[in-house]
Amino acid sequence: MTNRTRFALFLSLALLLPAAEQKPPKPPKSVRLYVFDCGTLKGLDPGIFHFKKEELANVDFVAVAYLIVHPKGTLMWDTGVIPDTAFKGDGAPVTQGISTATKPLLPQLAAIGYTPADINYLGLSHYHSDHTANANAFPNATWLVHPTERDAMFAEKPGGIIQQATFNKLKDGKTKILTDMDYDVFGDGTVVIKYAPGHTPGSQVLFVKLKKTGPILLAGDLYHYPEERFTDKTPTFEFNHEQSLASRAAIEAFLKQSKAKLWIEHDVATFNKLKKAPEFYE
Ligand SMILES: [Zn+2]
Repeated sequence: MTNRTRFALFLSLALLLPAAEQKPPKPPKSVRLYVFDCGTLKGLDPGIFHFKKEELANVDFVAVAYLIVHPKGTLMWDTGVIPDTAFKGDGAPVTQGISTATKPLLPQLAAIGYTPADINYLGLSHYHSDHTANANAFPNATWLVHPTERDAMFAEKPGGIIQQATFNKLKDGKTKILTDMDYDVFGDGTVVIKYAPGHTPGSQVLFVKLKKTGPILLAGDLYHYPEERFTDKTPTFEFNHEQSLASRAAIEAFLKQSKAKLWIEHDVATFNKLKKAPEFYE
């Protein structure tokens, strides 16, 4: 091979490869939901949730992120507890405080064909740091947030359980302020953000209507444990206890009416039963 041929070959490969890498998968005909493993939180004090250890099937949390792929676009819902930047690339798990993750998030997305640039919308159930780890990772996404939540996130003296460094890029990024309370992301009723304040000032949950699986409600931290449901227990760090109980009542009524299944995000038993990406729900 002459140097010239070698160079031509290199050039054609260099031109071809990025294009091939950047092509997102074809939009599906109906909505899909992918579940990503973002780690665990161990050694939590059940007392801050007003439970005794023996009253809970599992005190630990799982950390989860979800990708919703609609025929018209993509929505990332929550982003894990450990930022991908904390992984050293040697395959070793990363531990920060009580949280450990074995897999970074973006490679899990890449494995199903999506780059961060392919994500059109970002929704956070709320701003606590076990949900925002990779919020800065989606440069093209429009952030869907309630004004009270955004204000709390960028307050000069923010409240607890917050890591502003994980979401600071959202401040000047594309943002859709959700003043209409609930928000129908793609306009056809299949992916709806439901306003559920209380856990934080503008916490929210996500309704996803799947053709085969049926309707699902991703509960964020409306509940942390199944044992919390139908009690008036909210954590000691709840932003507004009364508001949370009102949001829970409204969401429970919605569950009855919509027949949606409730997926408690941190619940180990729920998570263990779920299909994880690259498998998906549709
Ligand atoms: Zn949480």
